[in-house]
Amino acid sequence: MSDFWPIVESHREEWLELWKEAVRIRSLKAEANGLAAIKGFLRQMLGSAGFTVEEIPTPGEPVLFAERKSVRPDAASVLIYGHYDVQPADPVEAWESPPFEPTERNGRLFGRGTGDNKGQHLAHLFGVLAVLQRFGDLPVTVKFVIEGEEESGSPHLPAVFDQHRESLSADVAITSDGPMAMGDRPMICLGVRGIFSFELRVSGARFDNHSGHKGNLVPNSAWRLVHVLSELLSTDNRVLVPGFYDEVEPLRAIDRELIEALPFDPPSVAAALGVPEESVRRWTKQDYYQRLMTPSFSINGLESGYAGPGHKSIIPATARALCDVRLVPNQDPAMIDRQFREYLAAIAPDVEYIPHPGWMYPSRTGAAHPAVAALQEALTRAYGMEPYVEPMMGGSLPDYVFTRILGIPSLIIPYANHDEGNHGPNENMRIDLFFRAIVATAEMLMALGNLSGPAQQPVH
Ligand SMILES: [Zn+2]
Repeated sequence: MSDFWPIVESHREEWLELWKEAVRIRSLKAEANGLAAIKGFLRQMLGSAGFTVEEIPTPGEPVLFAERKSVRPDAASVLIYGHYDVQPADPVEAWESPPFEPTERNGRLFGRGTGDNKGQHLAHLFGVLAVLQRFGDLPVTVKFVIEGEEESGSPHLPAVFDQHRESLSADVAITSDGPMAMGDRPMICLGVRGIFSFELRVSGARFDNHSGHKGNLVPNSAWRLVHVLSELLSTDNRVLVPGFYDEVEPLRAIDRELIEALPFDPPSVAAALGVPEESVRRWTKQDYYQRLMTPSFSINGLESGYAGPGHKSIIPATARALCDVRLVPNQDPAMIDRQFREYLAAIAPDVEYIPHPGWMYPSRTGAAHPAVAALQEALTRAYGMEPYVEPMMGGSLPDYVFTRILGIPSLIIPYANHDEGNHGPNENMRIDLFFRAIVATAEMLMALGNLSGPAQQPVH
């Protein structure tokens, strides 16, 4: 049981109200006033907690950067990342209560941004306040980076980190976004896959032709695209582009050990994937998790000819495919781009290859970093159960701004319930988990402080 509970309990109403106040602010891209209001709200909150706050301008929305130094000369530092923008609330009719009127129901707070991400970064801020109340000072220097463009893919975040390496750098970065593990169990995730996406375009004749009168006379763009795609991936799911796997970092023994401790329940995995249970039962737990730590290549969509009701006997003039490649350390999106470009130029010079902007590097933090064990203990104290430690998640986040640009370890520790419904209607966060997250932050700050020096004594 954490000693921070009495402090958190004594602020219950106040902190719940502030969380609601944040959710009431329509901090959407389309509402400039809402973005200004949330920045004002956060600046005020951080300022009154003793942080120096500045706005780092970008060509889009500014990044809020706040810092409060520990008085300890040898103190370590932690960078906490969050975002103040939210997803649009459409379709508003699908909400049981209005998205920007935070409403309590069944122990949850409903509203857009409750979990994604206001409840999570405010929990960090209140965790800082809890530590300050108990000790009068912070055991570690705390830096907040709260950006306003996460929901549009963080296009300017890498440049901000690149240009402010020194001030933003810390001993460890913590991101709390997205849902906790199934069963609302705490989790520390050590990495993410990167992403690189592109489009292929095939053009044959200037227009669609009659498949009878012109069959065998004009090229069929749909067939051409299918043939070219089949040269990119084998039927056993291996990418055929030369050099693609060369830089892939092999799995480490410690990753296999971590996987052994993770849950694997074929019926619930099958339900979550929407596939028959037999296909999941063919995998061991190692197979399942290692698949998510391996590069993947997906056709995201195909477009050609006519596929509506009835039938249209044509030879399609054009065909398009949208594809994405998920990358693992140490694959570099620029290198993958070059490999695809060169391979396609060699095997299919007639096919147009168009890389899409918005690449993300993969990112990974070693499980042996001392912060991992320290935070595992801190979370166990806060939640009364041990967190899962996941070596890598399948999805992509701009986590490389910490690991690659700053060169520091980065841990993803989600605070919202597994069914937070982020991005959908009726987004919510369990109120008990909000308060638990505050305790979790307080415990984590203490644990990180102990890594760099002797424990502090309470002032109260
Ligand atoms: Zn989101």
